[in-house]
Amino acid sequence: MSVDASPSKTHDGGSVTESRTESERPAKRGPKPIESGPRPMAAHITVYLFAIIPAVALIASIPLLWGWGVTLLDLALLAAFYTLSVLGITTGFHRYFTHGSFKAKRSLRIVLAVMGSMAVQGPILHWVADHRRHHAFSDREGDPHSPWAFGTSPLAIMRGFWHAHMGWIFNRTLTNQERFAPDLLADKDMRLVHKLFGPLTIATMLAPAVIGGLVTWSWWGALTAFFWGSLVRVAVVHHVTWSINSICHIIGDRPYKARDKSANFWPLAILSMGESWHNLHHADPTSARHGVGRWQIDITARLIWFFEKFGWAYDVRWPRPERLAKLAKPAH
Ligand SMILES: [Zn+2]
Ligand SMILES: [Zn+2]
Repeated sequence: MSVDASPSKTHDGGSVTESRTESERPAKRGPKPIESGPRPMAAHITVYLFAIIPAVALIASIPLLWGWGVTLLDLALLAAFYTLSVLGITTGFHRYFTHGSFKAKRSLRIVLAVMGSMAVQGPILHWVADHRRHHAFSDREGDPHSPWAFGTSPLAIMRGFWHAHMGWIFNRTLTNQERFAPDLLADKDMRLVHKLFGPLTIATMLAPAVIGGLVTWSWWGALTAFFWGSLVRVAVVHHVTWSINSICHIIGDRPYKARDKSANFWPLAILSMGESWHNLHHADPTSARHGVGRWQIDITARLIWFFEKFGWAYDVRWPRPERLAKLAKPAH
């Protein structure tokens, strides 16, 4: 061939390689798959245990509140561990790791990863990958937990509510971390915290019992502290977080232009530490503050503000009025 003896030899060689990759192109060059195989059986069984046992404890706690099974210490442990767990999720796993709404020094980054893990909502890489996938496909096919997955009839919404709230976590297929969380996969600190999820779960379940036992110097004190500070706390943390996925995609106000059904649901603002201002969050996912209105309390945003003041967090993406005005729906 005439191309043989010229610089085009390189070209020719190049094109051979080119044609070889051509056949593989769809698999290699397209986006990586959304999912990546099933969760190991042992891990899957623990998902069931940690979804069901704390929920049963929560139901059992209602009569105990009027009886002999609770002390002020138990309630203080419940409140303290609840606050730490929720803020670990909202400040750490959600606003920082998933959405990068601020930058953090390495020590704060590790503390947030550990605190988030102690909410017992799965290891960090799974949590972040699932949540980025939720935003990528929100309320469309591919969203891991949309309440609109089954249609809009009352029955379909009831089924969707269950799926978005809790049902989806029993799906064994994992979200592909290589596609949705390559930044965290590349970070050895995060890979380590991810691997330590088991021990961190044991620590967060035992800590209230140890404190309760030592303060009261009794096994009974350890037991009631475990019941309230561990089981009931994990159940409330779970159901508040899950309500953001279920309730806040069904009911509430939608003052901002989001491309999904996300809504601001004020009754959960305090318990969710600001996460229930979910419509603004979907309209502007990287904003460090979700409750942007005057009375929209956002405890997580306040914590990020403290971190910034102490110099542990920087480049915080605070909402700017011009941007909010652009995102707001036109008044009718
Ligand atoms: Zn959402
Ligand atoms: Zn989000």
